[in-house]
Amino acid sequence: LAADLEKLTDEPCVTADGHHLSLWVNTGLRLDSQLSLDRGAEGVGLYRTEIPFLMLDRFPSEEEQRKAYREHLEMFAPRTVTMRTLDIGGDKDLPYFPIEEANPFLGWRGIRICLDHPEIFLVQLRAMMRASEGLNNLSILLPMISNVPELESALQLIYQVYDELTEEEGYQIEMPNVGAMIEVPAAVYQIRELARRVDFLSVGTNDLTQYLLAVDRNNPRVAELYHACHPSVLRALWAIAEGARGEDTPVSVCGEMAGDPIGAVLLMALGFRVLSMSATNLLKVKAILRQVSLSEAEQLLEEVMLMPDAGSVWRHMEKALKKPE
Ligand code: PEP
Ligand code: MG
Repeated sequence: LAADLEKLTDEPCVTADGHHLSLWVNTGLRLDSQLSLDRGAEGVGLYRTEIPFLMLDRFPSEEEQRKAYREHLEMFAPRTVTMRTLDIGGDKDLPYFPIEEANPFLGWRGIRICLDHPEIFLVQLRAMMRASEGLNNLSILLPMISNVPELESALQLIYQVYDELTEEEGYQIEMPNVGAMIEVPAAVYQIRELARRVDFLSVGTNDLTQYLLAVDRNNPRVAELYHACHPSVLRALWAIAEGARGEDTPVSVCGEMAGDPIGAVLLMALGFRVLSMSATNLLKVKAILRQVSLSEAEQLLEEVMLMPDAGSVWRHMEKALKKPE
């Protein structure tokens, strides 16, 4: 790591004109958790719980999950750890839970599987909440929400688990904050209905880009069409930020866009103040955000919002951010 970047570890993420942004990390493996702490992350915006499930040849038991989650929560306490409930299906298959489908990204994935298999979902929720006992730094994040009933069903199961643990079993647990991922285009158009039902929102730009542009995020043949700077993606992000603000619901971004210097500047200009990214990108993003001012970023956004395609947006941003002061 470059020495000039390393120096930023303990520096705040404040723009040239004094606006503060929170930089969080995405985690999954123990390895990146340590790196996240070393890089001065303010919290975990996305813990991909698929990882402990991928490391076994069967579903982990409640106790196995509780231990893995506890370790993560302890490591970051008192900072918040946002644990996403199981997001299998799509490109993430468990060998012991095979799913055969013609269109996995449009099929049985994320929250859809958990609602069809409450026995898997309830065990995971119990493990998460029990793991947070005495720490109370847990937030729960629901992936692939595409309609209101889905969100309400998931919330109901979360309250059910919480009531059982605290009222019937005597655990001393604070109710975790619960949030929804915004990563399906339908969620963008119902942003206020979703926002008012949760404690926070988190934008998954990887899937949102894939679904908005109809471009498989893993298919090299169409990789050139996959671009988070596509004007349609930027407009969707703008609508999300505005909708969340309208409901006073905190919103963060946890897709790859947040870990890219140009993406991060655009997201800041769009109104996002919490960005969650891979630990390896954290200091690079902090460096660029400390160099630009919010007003300059907003001016740039105004310019690129008039542009017709992703390439023009990208080149304009690149040129502007490279400009010597
Ligand atoms: C996303 O879709 O942007 C996201 C953060 O989740 P994942 O990459 O795990 O699908
Ligand atoms: Mg996703």
